[in-house]
Amino acid sequence: MSGDCILCGKCLEVCPLLRATGREELGPRAKADLCFLLGDDETLLSGEDVAKLAGLCLGCHRCKAVCSQGVDVPGLVAALRLAHPDFKGWLWKTWLTHARELWSSTSLAAKLIPKNFQSEKFGPFLKMLAGLKGGPGLEPFLIPEIFPDTYRGERMLLFAGCTANYVQGRWLVTALRLLDGLGIEVLPGDFKCCGGGLSSAGFDVESEAMACKNIDVWRKAGKPKMVLFCASCLSSLGGYENYFEDSEEFISWQRSLMPLSALLREATFVVSEKASGKVAYHRPCHVDKADSDYMFLHNALGNRLIVSTSRECCGFGGVMRLGTPALADAVNRDCWEKLGTPDVVLTGCSACAAQLAATAPNEVRVGHWLEIIA
Ligand code: SF4
Ligand code: SF4
Repeated sequence: MSGDCILCGKCLEVCPLLRATGREELGPRAKADLCFLLGDDETLLSGEDVAKLAGLCLGCHRCKAVCSQGVDVPGLVAALRLAHPDFKGWLWKTWLTHARELWSSTSLAAKLIPKNFQSEKFGPFLKMLAGLKGGPGLEPFLIPEIFPDTYRGERMLLFAGCTANYVQGRWLVTALRLLDGLGIEVLPGDFKCCGGGLSSAGFDVESEAMACKNIDVWRKAGKPKMVLFCASCLSSLGGYENYFEDSEEFISWQRSLMPLSALLREATFVVSEKASGKVAYHRPCHVDKADSDYMFLHNALGNRLIVSTSRECCGFGGVMRLGTPALADAVNRDCWEKLGTPDVVLTGCSACAAQLAATAPNEVRVGHWLEIIA
């Protein structure tokens, strides 16, 4: 997988970790090189060194998206993680496989731990946990006016994702109201986690089990369209290729994935007088080139949308946030430098929303774009 690297350097331009630290040894090309040198002989490096290398990637997939040779650096790093699961990996796995029991309570609990009891090692992680639950939510100021008839009468599944299912129920309620406005009937579907976080942490068996369960729900429902409102879930579901034996069925799976914001393209909204002044948008790493959340917000908010990130990552980074929080913080600072200090930052990814809410300057509020819909 890493042997095809032609050292063109394209990936260096997009890696947020390299951009924030200026350290080329942390960039994708260096990691691809090292994995190539290691080959199958991991004894060339100590377990500790491999674990360290496995921790130095945000798993943002930006390098993979631009590589003409199909070099999958985050995949190589995930394989290293799989080969050397240390306690951080275990923690991440526990966190993702017990979302139902842990997320809401842990997020609340993390908020209650006094700062002087938070060790340097876990402080940033606890901050991110507290951010998952967010604050009281954003004041809604975007009022739906006219819904088009384009999808009226269609039946679709809704893949809400773990954050909306377990801690941010208001996102789910708003999404259901919008689908109702569009005249779409939501079919019942007991989806599991998208498996993206587990896969990038190297837990292939668990993420495959989740993917197969999700595919099964879709097949049993008659392969309808599936609506999503989290960019990371969308990207993860779109990458289920290996779980389909029939490539035509995989293509039909991919075509069924619909971002909620794309369904709202022809809807009209009015901005209420209570609207926040300056709004910024954070573009998640896992978003498609055609970023439908941005297009929706750009159309609906016009001049109020003053800035959008493009190359900057929020620094969430899964296992990396646990293993090397200082580097994840450098990436996060880079992101805030671009965002500046607007009144509100909106995004369309649950992980970015948690990370930015946990690190926002005091006067800046952060939320999923669904929170501004009245
Ligand atoms: S973009 Fe691909 S081929 Fe080019 S340096 Fe990066 S990993 Fe190598
Ligand atoms: S996945 Fe992201 S952080 Fe990791 S090497 Fe690629 S661009 Fe850099």
